[in-house]
Amino acid sequence: MCGLNWNTRQELLSDPFVEITGYLVNFKDPEQGIFTFNHMSCKGTFAVKVSFFTDLYKGEFFEQNIAGDEKCPNYCLNKFELDSCPEKCECAYVRDVIQLIKNFPK
Ligand SMILES: [Zn+2]
Repeated sequence: MCGLNWNTRQELLSDPFVEITGYLVNFKDPEQGIFTFNHMSCKGTFAVKVSFFTDLYKGEFFEQNIAGDEKCPNYCLNKFELDSCPEKCECAYVRDVIQLIKNFPK
């Protein structure tokens, strides 16, 4: 929005004025989910696909999607919920990616 460009993912994530604000889940293909970010310097917002960040995550992936199950905490239904998910769900890794983005050294 302000015209500032980040040349690398590293640059984007280590920018202290960049903050992740939301996550729009894609239940059919978690990789196609969307993270929204704030650029605090200009109050601009922008969106980046989950797949751009997935390789930050080194943990386990689960095949089964338990969204809608009793066990599911339904975090994915609230785009402002950015906590990690305790369940073994296909979508859970995305929430770990969110933690990696939030805690990226600035
Ligand atoms: Zn900006």
